Amino acid sequence: MMNKYEEAWKKIKYVTNYNVRAFDDDDEEIKVIQELVDKVHYYKKLEARATPMKPIDIKHDKLDGFAFGECKCGTVVDKFENEFCNRCGQALDWSEDE
Ligand SMILES: [Zn+2]
Repeated sequence: MMNKYEEAWKKIKYVTNYNVRAFDDDDEEIKVIQELVDKVHYYKKLEARATPMKPIDIKHDKLDGFAFGECKCGTVVDKFENEFCNRCGQALDWSEDE
């Protein structure tokens, strides 16, 4: 019967299409697992950043027609120039519910 570690390892290899190969030692195996986990976190982050998020508290300057909103990272972004936050790269959704 597989222990939890073996099960997790099998799953990781399965979802990443990782080929079974011989490792010199446990350290190498752990290093590879850590790299795969890091990769998954990295891609999750990229995906979240590419999914447009509504800026917080969109403010309009009616006189000049400008609009500003705040990104989740705290940066104030100009609606008409930025589809992405220029600090953290988060995609922004400027659509507003009437
Ligand atoms: Zn940001």
